[in-house]
Amino acid sequence: MIRVRFAPSPTGYLHVGGARTALYNYLTAQKLKGTFVLRIEDTDLERSTEESLRMQMDDLKWLGLTWDEGPEYETLKDVGEYGPYRQSQRLEIYQKHIQQLLEGNQAYYCFHTDEEVKEKTNPKLGHFISEYRDLPLVEAKKRIESGESAVVRFRNDKEKDYKMNDLVRDEVTFPSHMVGDFVIFRSNGMPVYNFCCVVDDHLMKISHVFRAEEHLSNSLRQLMIYEAFGWEPPQFGHLSLILGEDKQKLSKRHGATSCNEFMKEGYLPEAINNFIALCGWSSPSGKEVLQPSELLEEFSLDRFATSGAVFDQTKLKWMNAMHLRALSDEELWQRVQEYMKISGEEFQLEKGEVAVAAMKPAAETLKEMVEKLRPLSAQFSIHENAKEVLTWESSSKVIRMWQELLSEKEGFISEEEFTSYQDRIKNECEVKGKFLFMPLRVSVIGQPHGVDLQKVVPLIGRQELAQRAGQCLSAAT
Ligand code: GLU
Repeated sequence: MIRVRFAPSPTGYLHVGGARTALYNYLTAQKLKGTFVLRIEDTDLERSTEESLRMQMDDLKWLGLTWDEGPEYETLKDVGEYGPYRQSQRLEIYQKHIQQLLEGNQAYYCFHTDEEVKEKTNPKLGHFISEYRDLPLVEAKKRIESGESAVVRFRNDKEKDYKMNDLVRDEVTFPSHMVGDFVIFRSNGMPVYNFCCVVDDHLMKISHVFRAEEHLSNSLRQLMIYEAFGWEPPQFGHLSLILGEDKQKLSKRHGATSCNEFMKEGYLPEAINNFIALCGWSSPSGKEVLQPSELLEEFSLDRFATSGAVFDQTKLKWMNAMHLRALSDEELWQRVQEYMKISGEEFQLEKGEVAVAAMKPAAETLKEMVEKLRPLSAQFSIHENAKEVLTWESSSKVIRMWQELLSEKEGFISEEEFTSYQDRIKNECEVKGKFLFMPLRVSVIGQPHGVDLQKVVPLIGRQELAQRAGQCLSAAT
């Protein structure tokens, strides 16, 4: 039975590294007909917030990485038989399991204060040896009952190598002396990540764990805990780091790193998925631009890279353009409208589908698309940089004639008609070059540069165009 999970800590937006972890787990479940679990690791009560949880769920949903088990998107109510799926609601389970280790003498209460631990840590060996290692459990419990506080430490007393067959890195060996008797329960009664993670992965019957490389060193502690319980660990896969262009770990200073920022910048979720899938994995066909179905088709568990992948924003933008252009005009117009909604922009276009088709070659993101489409909408305004054009003597002549030609008929103008209008204006007004094109562009889109009039004019009705020309004429006088 294939069961995978994504286990975010709700302490901020979902960044691209987290999204990639979620994506690989999701694809594994899809590919191997398994179950994708969303588990919320919110035991850090100070840093975890409901708001972050909501943001992360929104981002996962936007990417289409839907989970089969976990808190349900709308209501946050658990769906699935292995809940609760939020660690903050599983404290009783952890309490029960910690008792098992305490009673089995695989863990012990330790009453040292933080200062003592610091003082007594051997700077050469690096590990702290607690004086309470051999304190009988009954004694320790008495002290706790009388109000003393203690952490629980895992007893690491085996001299051995822990081995793991990592799905990304093959065999990894950790000598047990890499860690000392590590803390598994804090004195405030909260279990630590390594403990919760093992208990949950086991109880939730997780078979494969893809997670970030930074958790590789946690695996030793986790393998020890699995062994202490007598449980079989899942198959781990520790994904290589995502790097910035300077080869340092990707962080905010490299620019946008959260999915939310990319959404706002007008990226398509399928482009983000495609791009992050290739940060640390390669397709067997060598193809780079993969539609969601192709990505699923090609995805396999044996092509992960062990070295870090550079997050190249320029390439991401190129890939976004590829996905944007692959959409049908109808779908693209739909996406543009959805994007306008989330970015709080509203304008109507009579021929939305035709307009997006005309603008496709000039836009790489939905945001750029909206910028190109905006001048076509009925909300016409004359830009600052157009004012100079309107002061040229010939401009009024050109615009006046343009307005007259517009009133010859009704409806829309074809590309050919527009060409012939341009020729007539050129000859009759005796203007050419920028003295012809710039005033025309200003009277169509309110600015002297930017679009190919041939493509734009046929998208705006004659009446609307005449009105814009009128506005320019009044501004010119
Ligand atoms: N909550 C951990 C994180 O967000 C997950 C670690 C794991 O997948 O085991 O990094």
